[in-house]
Amino acid sequence: MTFPTPTPTPTPSQTQRPARPQITLAVVRREQLSPHLVRIVLGGDEFDAFQANDSTDKYVKIAFAAPGELPVTRTYTVREVDPVARTLSIDFVVHGDEGLAGPWAAAAEPGDLLTFAGPGAGYAPDPAADWHLFAGDQSVLPAIASALAACPALLAASRSWR
Ligand SMILES: Cc1cc2nc3c(=O)[nH]c(=O)nc-3n(C[C@H](O)[C@H](O)[C@H](O)COP(=O)(O)OP(=O)(O)OC[C@H]3O[C@@H](n4cnc5c(N)ncnc54)[C@H](O)[C@@H]3O)c2cc1C
Repeated sequence: MTFPTPTPTPTPSQTQRPARPQITLAVVRREQLSPHLVRIVLGGDEFDAFQANDSTDKYVKIAFAAPGELPVTRTYTVREVDPVARTLSIDFVVHGDEGLAGPWAAAAEPGDLLTFAGPGAGYAPDPAADWHLFAGDQSVLPAIASALAACPALLAASRSWR
């Protein structure tokens, strides 16, 4: 009788995700896209450290730190990277007065600093696929919009469907 060869357990170094660069950018402007959606455009000297890739779900881990406390992170999709203006945009859904990221975005002013690690990513729509299904709550809209923007045929189809 033969037994399957056991799969070796990965060591911690094999399972750890690659370290993402930590980047601090400043708010260039805040745009109120709708009553509950705020776009924050960020730029600054560390823009060049942002390693953009072709995935449409690029996300960053934003650190929020109150004085004397350990930072906590919130995850946000990078809606758009503009290499000419050297800015990147993040769309924040503002769920109310609670929490960190939403209230921060609602009150952000030009010059305010934001520190994040990233980007992580893993998805882009296959332009050869027959169909795509995107579903999610408001906070997924930036990733869906980014996917549509990367695929002109999808964008045209979604416009004619509406
Ligand atoms: C990969 C990934 C990408 C994401 N991209 C985006 C993005 O681009 N834009 C975006 O706005 N969000 C995005 N999110 C969701 C976002 O990370 C969470 O909504 C986050 O918890 C908000 O942080 P906060 O500090 O504002 O609120 P929290 O401190 O987490 O929560 C405070 C209160 O806000 C309310 N709340 C928070 N999140 C939601 C929600 N999603 N739906 C309803 N009520 C909520 C709840 O009442 C909660 O009690 C993403 C999440 C992931 C995992």
